Amino acid sequence: MIKKVVIVGAGPSGLLLAQYLLRRGDNYQIHIYERRSDPRIVSFSKSRTYPISLNERGMSALRQIEGLGASVKAISLEMNGTVFHQQNGKTRYTPRQTPLFTLDRTNLAIALLESLTSKYNNKQLNIHFNCQCQQVDFTAKTLTLTNIAEEDKSLTINYDFLVGADGAYSAVRQSLNSTEYLDCEQKDIPTDYKSFFLPSPDEKSNINLERDKIHSWMLKDGTVVLLLHQLGGTMSGVIYFPRKHNQVANLSTTEEVLKFFRENFAETSQLMPESEAEAFINRPPSTVLTVRCSRYHYGDSVLLIGDAAHAVSPSIGQGCNAALEDVVVFDQLLDEYSDNIAEAIAQFTVRRQPDGYALVELGDNAFPLSQGLFIEFILRELSAKILHQIFPQRFSPPLFYLISETTVSYLEILNLYQGWIAKVKKSNEKFLAI
Ligand SMILES: Cc1cc2nc3c(=O)[nH]c(=O)nc-3n(C[C@H](O)[C@H](O)[C@H](O)COP(=O)(O)OP(=O)(O)OC[C@H]3O[C@@H](n4cnc5c(N)ncnc54)[C@H](O)[C@@H]3O)c2cc1C
Repeated sequence: MIKKVVIVGAGPSGLLLAQYLLRRGDNYQIHIYERRSDPRIVSFSKSRTYPISLNERGMSALRQIEGLGASVKAISLEMNGTVFHQQNGKTRYTPRQTPLFTLDRTNLAIALLESLTSKYNNKQLNIHFNCQCQQVDFTAKTLTLTNIAEEDKSLTINYDFLVGADGAYSAVRQSLNSTEYLDCEQKDIPTDYKSFFLPSPDEKSNINLERDKIHSWMLKDGTVVLLLHQLGGTMSGVIYFPRKHNQVANLSTTEEVLKFFRENFAETSQLMPESEAEAFINRPPSTVLTVRCSRYHYGDSVLLIGDAAHAVSPSIGQGCNAALEDVVVFDQLLDEYSDNIAEAIAQFTVRRQPDGYALVELGDNAFPLSQGLFIEFILRELSAKILHQIFPQRFSPPLFYLISETTVSYLEILNLYQGWIAKVKKSNEKFLAI
């Protein structure tokens, strides 16, 4: 029998899951409901997008769909390492063994949408934009949505299988929370962020920001800037800053913004036009939520994936990679359980929840906020690399190599680096309490 699948959220996880389900044959008829407009038609405000880096976890999930790996690669830039810029003008470089693929989050969603709609017609697939899920009735197997484009008209639809792929603030998860079946911890991390956009430096200029590297700056108060080249001669940046004692949210004039960047991130200020400084003030800071859930499924017909199940701090660049990896894990379970949804979703919790939990723990505590511990972190990573090369049986590879260059499970990585994670957790808590 054909199953009516409702996916809430047309982000990376929801769109990729639709591809994986549809290629299984005619078993599934899919409806995707997305609260935003179609990004292929309406360009989003820049405050809603940011650069995303994909490593092997995410890229291998995309490659399994014909043509998708190549089309995402075609709109990405390859990054071969990170340059840490210091305030005295010196730099420290950490190379990668395998490249990262970086692109804008909205462009990733567009590539996924184009790939989907080019393969499937509306007998198998319907994508409904401007439709926001409000709540779910799990007994009746229905959900209520509002159509934002039609004066918030309310509609109720039924499902056989419901997937909450609606991100960190998931409405499907909120509804599940009220059933008391789900034990879910949501935490606002005490760091906010703003995006900014710059032209790439002129080849003749003396600004040295190599194209194939991620550029990073860190201030004593924990403020971090990441800046990446994009296709088309532009650069995309994100500034993360502690909400408490925060200097960024207090910047209220273009002069103040330009002065702040000049004093702290010299190279970026040389590239920032006044118009961008003004746009920066008008972009509201965004908050980041982390989510730890006891289960990723409910009954025989509801599944949470991606950020809806395990939203993670962006500090380790893994949320999207993990969201795409979720889809591969679920697809393997459908193979193992011959498309029996009830069994596959229950096993998804068993197989993926410990990993999702470890992912959030790594996101919170792999990366130290204090500059002292940050230097120790760099030295540890260097020595782990050398020791692992000489004694591969006795010493583990570096932590960030494991996270961002391998597909080793997050749980295994957490177990290998338990001591360091505990140390950073203590230091970060102290740092944030000041
Ligand atoms: C600044 C920043 C930098 C990041 N950098 C990286 C990185 O380098 N690498 C990496 O792997 N990850 C990164 N991430 C994390 C990554 O963006 C997310 O983990 C990833 O987008 C999760 O995908 P998703 O499909 O699960 O959720 P989302 O991308 O959040 O998509 C959810 C979708 O659901 C829609 N939606 C939400 N609520 C509703 C509703 N009620 N009804 C209908 N639709 C709804 C949303 O509009 C959205 O389109 C970063 C995150 C941030 C904030």
